[in-house]
Amino acid sequence: MTQRASQLSPQPMDALWMPYTANRQFKSAPRMITGAQGNYLIDDSGRKIFDGLSGLWTCGAGHNRPEITEAVAKQLATLDYAPAFQYGHNLAFELAERLAAMAPSDINKVFFTNSGSEAADTATKMARAYWRQQGQPTKTRIIGRAKGYHGASWGGISFGGIGANRKMWGPAMESDHLSHTLLPQNAFSEGIPAQGANLADELIEMVALHDASNIAAVIVEPMSGSAGVIVPPAGYLKRLRQLCDEHDILLIFDEVITGFGRTGDLFGANTFDVVPDMINVAKQLTNGAIPMGAVLTRQFIYDTVVDAGGAPYNIELPHGYTYSGHPVACAAAMASLDILEQEKLVARVAELSPYFEQGVHSLKGMPFINDIRNLGFAAGFTIESYPGEPARRPFELAMKLLEKGFYVRYGGDTLQLGIPFTTEKSEIDALINAMQDTLMDAHGMKKTG
Ligand code: PMP
Repeated sequence: MTQRASQLSPQPMDALWMPYTANRQFKSAPRMITGAQGNYLIDDSGRKIFDGLSGLWTCGAGHNRPEITEAVAKQLATLDYAPAFQYGHNLAFELAERLAAMAPSDINKVFFTNSGSEAADTATKMARAYWRQQGQPTKTRIIGRAKGYHGASWGGISFGGIGANRKMWGPAMESDHLSHTLLPQNAFSEGIPAQGANLADELIEMVALHDASNIAAVIVEPMSGSAGVIVPPAGYLKRLRQLCDEHDILLIFDEVITGFGRTGDLFGANTFDVVPDMINVAKQLTNGAIPMGAVLTRQFIYDTVVDAGGAPYNIELPHGYTYSGHPVACAAAMASLDILEQEKLVARVAELSPYFEQGVHSLKGMPFINDIRNLGFAAGFTIESYPGEPARRPFELAMKLLEKGFYVRYGGDTLQLGIPFTTEKSEIDALINAMQDTLMDAHGMKKTG
């Protein structure tokens, strides 16, 4: 039987195989988005829904920004596409210069991709290329972290640490995983938790196991988003940096979520005061309007790989994408970065995040709330679910919130918030109230006062 999106938009739904979605469940009760404006999505009944995840951590500056629309339209009318290999166009160079100037320390080379997954593959390939060109071709192993998410490519699912993304396919890349940093003693920490920096020392065990001569890089998110906003403990990333230096291992920060303001700084690297060797970005780079990602690397990685290229016509890094540095994506990124700067949105996140923190932590003690974590404009809640069905209650709560006009993310046993950088205090209040009501309703409690 043909399934239809809804009475209002009678679109057949059979052909589309949706990503990361329970397809049959969705098609039996579709949730259709028809428009968006500012901090709101609009559904097929014309209802405004507060976008509590900025799309998918993508649209921090709010939706449908006319500045981006105009820049994209203009670019499409000027140069819709330029060959990504062996030819250049100005905007890619201009955007790269801008990103290099924004990135910390001597992270000043930019390689464009179309997504966060491609950035993860690119950065880890660069790490291997770097060691190979240094005469150390056995340094190939990539170490990730339990609960880490780096995308859906073979690389991403390998050094990513979300088991559900891996078990379906059989062997991928061999990788190791440091423990995640979700410690019970840190439950309900506000901001950066205090305990657990010593977990970074697990890298010493991995060096003992494999020998550093076989390890290329460690890849971590400065804040794990997809696993439910796991904020690393104070000192953890610094210790990881120190150990990577001691053992000649490259350190890659996957800042696909944390890049461009989410933490209240331009990069998570700034928040944690650690300079990695590479930073992966995507999502917020174009405010979600056009797919684009990038790997930002330190000077020495570029120099080593590129200088080893040999004859002038030789390709040093045989890697890239047809749409690397796509002119239209570059235009969207430039306009998006203009908005971030002109509206001082990163500073705005920093300024309002204590208010947001207070709001999310006011839900402590509410039914089903087993933990609350937050950083900048991101928050994660561990939800007590049904026996054997960890994902069910988060889903149910998210659906109840949707009925009330709030979109939040559910994933595993968590609910996640990543509110737009443009969120007003009154919108934070409304969201927290709706969550409170939803939790109490679900528990059959009546609100007092
Ligand atoms: N890394 C991180 C930290 C992410 O959050 C994501 C996407 N959620 C990715 C990589 C993958 O990005 P994409 O879906 O654009 O491939």
